[in-house]
Amino acid sequence: MSKTVVILGAGMTGLPLTHYILDHYASRHDLKVILISRSDEFYWNIASPRAVIPNQLDDDKVLYSIPETFSRHPVERFEFVVGVAETWYPDRSSVAVVFENGGKRVVQYDTIIVATGSDCNDNMPWKMVGSPKETRAVLSKVRTDMFKAHSIVVAGGGPTGVELAGELGYEYATTGKKKVTLVMADAQPLDTRLMPSTRLAARKELEKLNVNIISDTKLSRSAANEKGGYTLELTHHNGVKETMHTDILLPTWGIRYNTSFAPPSLLEPNSRLRVNGTLRSPNYDNVFVVGDAANLDSYAARVREAQVRHLASALEKYFPGEDVPEYVAEDKVTMTVAVGRGRGVGQLGNFGLWTLLVWWFKGRHMCTNIVPEYVRGKTLILGAF
Ligand SMILES: Cc1cc2nc3c(=O)[nH]c(=O)nc-3n(C[C@H](O)[C@H](O)[C@H](O)COP(=O)(O)OP(=O)(O)OC[C@H]3O[C@@H](n4cnc5c(N)ncnc54)[C@H](O)[C@@H]3O)c2cc1C
Repeated sequence: MSKTVVILGAGMTGLPLTHYILDHYASRHDLKVILISRSDEFYWNIASPRAVIPNQLDDDKVLYSIPETFSRHPVERFEFVVGVAETWYPDRSSVAVVFENGGKRVVQYDTIIVATGSDCNDNMPWKMVGSPKETRAVLSKVRTDMFKAHSIVVAGGGPTGVELAGELGYEYATTGKKKVTLVMADAQPLDTRLMPSTRLAARKELEKLNVNIISDTKLSRSAANEKGGYTLELTHHNGVKETMHTDILLPTWGIRYNTSFAPPSLLEPNSRLRVNGTLRSPNYDNVFVVGDAANLDSYAARVREAQVRHLASALEKYFPGEDVPEYVAEDKVTMTVAVGRGRGVGQLGNFGLWTLLVWWFKGRHMCTNIVPEYVRGKTLILGAF
């Protein structure tokens, strides 16, 4: 009888791994692969800061049908289950899935790969918001609100905040059509892991696009006004508070790891799943964890895709019962951040990347050029798979 491999989550790590297992191991090791995910569409959230700008990216450039990409695989090898993993029983090698209609199914497995990733707070479309239909509705609402607005505040100076402020600056602030403000808690944008020169470069790029940057300041309160718009309370680092009004507020902070279905004993205090050196859950040799759900770096293609590539090749040893090789984590800090449709900033290890290189690699299309191949499992962001 064939053995069952369950992949939980059809996102940026689960989807390519499912294709890889089907293409390379399913027939050879007589496997049945069951992909379980909340949604039957894949969301290219990397392009979301541009997708919210009216008339930039159609929804079909960022949302792709998942079942279509697996149509070449026979039913005895592959099944796609659209449902939410509600409870996971690693001791019994099973996971309970609930469906939209309230139905439930318990799926037994021999091996599970957990790749349930993360969601964003505040119902912002930087990740999928509920179903694909709800995500389309949120994208459409943000675009409509943006079209009407005179002032827009982006809250949070991380990569999403910088890319979003860059898109807005490029589209509206440079021409003076709308006022765009970025409020951020640190003195400079982006991550403290990056070199000060990279962070300074991001600030300068945003300033060139006429983005008003309020740094060292926290958005301490926000309230929607009855007649539209928002009243914001900003708290500067010296404790001084300021009130500000804006037509739209776009928060870009706060990530929730999608691990609530897991037994608490498998979780780290940050609610990510604990993993050992072979990307497995300690004490469960048949449980692999990758991507944002794993307690590892996964914020950039170079680190997350290294996990995907490692696991794809480590399974070659795992399926016939051989020792699974250890994963060596990428220790170079990498990041590419598009700043508007013409430029960008980035870092690879201790080297700052040329702005035009970042534009070429990411900013000119937000990597939407590769998504059709990505969803078919033929490429990752950093090349063939
Ligand atoms: C705006 C933005 C821009 C980004 N830009 C980049 C970039 O340029 N380069 C880069 O490398 N990274 C980027 N990232 C980070 C990248 O998006 C994440 O690291 C990546 O999505 C993580 O992949 P994942 O497969 O672990 O999880 P996800 O992509 O989050 O996928 C998780 C999947 O699991 C499903 N799921 C969740 N819970 C359940 C459940 N209980 N049951 C069933 N299914 C479930 C979800 O529906 C989803 O399909 C960006 C992130 C944001 C927010």
